[in-house]
Amino acid sequence: MLEQGTITIHTQNIFPIIKKALYSDHEVFFRELISNAVDAIQKLKMVAFAGELAGELGEPEIVISLDKENRTLSIADNGIGMTADEVKKYINQVAFSSAEEFVEKYQKQGSDQPLIGHFGLGFYSAFMVADQVEITTLSYREGAEAVRWQCDGSPNFTLDTTTRAGRGTTVTLTLQESETEFLEPGRIRELVKTYCDFLPVAIKLEGETLNRQQAIWRQSPADLKDEDYLTFYRYLYPFQDDPLLWVHLQTDYPFLLNGVLYFPKLRPDVDVSRSQLKLFCNQVFVSDHCEEILPRFLLPMRGVIDSPDIPLNVSRSALQLDRTVRQIGNFVAKKVADRLKEMYHSQREQYIDVWQDLGTFVKFGCLNDDKFKQQVEDILIFRTTAKVEAATAEQPAVEVPGESGDAWQTATPEGPSGRPAYTTLKEYLARNQARHENRVFYCTDEVAQATYVDLHTRQGLEVLFMDSFIDTHFISFLEREFEQVKFSRVDSDLDPALLSQDQGSELIDPKTNKSKAETVKELFEAALGRPRVTIRTESLKGEGEQAPPAMVLLPESLRRLREMTALMQQGKMEFPEEHTLVVNLGHPLVQHLLTLNQTPVLQVPGATPANTLAQDLCCYIYDLALLAQKGFDVEGMKGFVERSNRVLTQLAGRVAGG
Ligand code: ADP
Repeated sequence: MLEQGTITIHTQNIFPIIKKALYSDHEVFFRELISNAVDAIQKLKMVAFAGELAGELGEPEIVISLDKENRTLSIADNGIGMTADEVKKYINQVAFSSAEEFVEKYQKQGSDQPLIGHFGLGFYSAFMVADQVEITTLSYREGAEAVRWQCDGSPNFTLDTTTRAGRGTTVTLTLQESETEFLEPGRIRELVKTYCDFLPVAIKLEGETLNRQQAIWRQSPADLKDEDYLTFYRYLYPFQDDPLLWVHLQTDYPFLLNGVLYFPKLRPDVDVSRSQLKLFCNQVFVSDHCEEILPRFLLPMRGVIDSPDIPLNVSRSALQLDRTVRQIGNFVAKKVADRLKEMYHSQREQYIDVWQDLGTFVKFGCLNDDKFKQQVEDILIFRTTAKVEAATAEQPAVEVPGESGDAWQTATPEGPSGRPAYTTLKEYLARNQARHENRVFYCTDEVAQATYVDLHTRQGLEVLFMDSFIDTHFISFLEREFEQVKFSRVDSDLDPALLSQDQGSELIDPKTNKSKAETVKELFEAALGRPRVTIRTESLKGEGEQAPPAMVLLPESLRRLREMTALMQQGKMEFPEEHTLVVNLGHPLVQHLLTLNQTPVLQVPGATPANTLAQDLCCYIYDLALLAQKGFDVEGMKGFVERSNRVLTQLAGRVAGG
């Protein structure tokens, strides 16, 4: 016996605390012991590199053995080993003091706060699962003697000399009754896959190497091809769509960090408040619940972050406040912005494809992070009705003249390449300066506002699609950024460019002395009987039936106020009773309506009087305008169906010659 002693610790018996503290995550002992074994091998390599190793380095490996009969699990490495003095120092003092430090910290934080990684407990975490721990070790030093250290979980240990075949260390745990799961090869494989897959040393069980070993994030980007990144992604997230883009992170100042982050193709039902990022520390897996590490808008990102500078035995809330963690967040955001900029400038088509999935997050990032906003503000793009040739690196965005020579005459939602056309806000403003300076027309619902968009594009007004759920906020944000610029939804008002010279003032009735416009207005007012709906008559530009007979307008400011209120009450915006109905005097239906209204006598017995029909038609026109706006309430829907049936019956009756 070399020595028998008591380990000096200040905290009274730390073992029960270790067990309790880590109870829920007791498997982390495995990670800690394997990390030590890998360290021992790396240290030996350094010794060899320095020319101080007498013997052969050999093939580094870690061998796990399971013995169900004796209830032992052992982890053997052929690393640097320890002398008796080193065991005393590193195991009895260093390991114990780090365990003690951990326990103190843990107690201070309160055990109800889940700790992020439980790292730093080190060797003594073995006692979470073991009744007895034995170390046999032989140092690489010439003439070193093998030693055996034993401890039963009390602060008492024994140390004596032993024999050992080769250099290195074997840690043998006699497992507690309740921990026999760690004697199952399947369970050990699982642990190796989870925690040790990317460690650069072969980890063997029953003669088989279990871990993948290469950590792509530690390789130089120059040595990696796209396919390597994709293969790695598919390995980490099997059975998923390929990622949209990736960013390779490598820095050593002011913190050490390596990683590869991917933007996945998101399914609509994905929970974007949960991160699927994997956090590593020196290639050892720590956690995949690290929402605190990335800025919120980057939470959908996947992949690996490996940094020894992230504090791992602190609580989640402490992590969020940590300075290094915040710096890491900024660093990642900047790298993502750089990657996007690079794509925008050199791979425009890919950028546009990616934007369809990513745009919302980039906007969210702008709203939340001023630095990020500054980085990406020039590459924010919007789908547009204009035909814009996708820019390439050599050629900036150009307008494509339509057949009539008017750039916007043939505006369609598709660019010349068949892809949707996109534009930046600055480009939009520059392009439309002459026609509508500082005014942006936008659409939030391509289906519901189709009539309005059509009206605009026919008259050469360019409309932007701002239909992501975040755009309501984003528009307010843009208005703060571009103070001069006003955003109007296509259904909020009618630009003068949409109206033709007023034909409504021509006199039609010498008796009443009323203009056509006035008559129509009165007719609608009477038919609708809705004092809160303002009737306005206009002549919309557009041949024949190109422009609709009527449309409902909701003033921008009123609508926004309603939207805000609805948002605060977490409901959907109800369609406001105050709105404007624009009746298009130029439409043939409205013309017929006037004629019908003036037909005093009805020839068909039993049929609805013409002026009643005129009234029904007024309501019908209003219904259709509302319908285009999704503006029906229950009563509206009932009335619409009833009227439709009435009008159709009449129509059928007349055609049938009734
Ligand atoms: P840490 O690894 O954080 O330093 P540990 O408590 O895990 O703390 O280990 C304490 C020390 O014991 C290590 O720093 C190392 O010097 C020594 N040690 C532990 N395991 C081994 C091993 N397998 N081979 C050689 N030395 C070891």
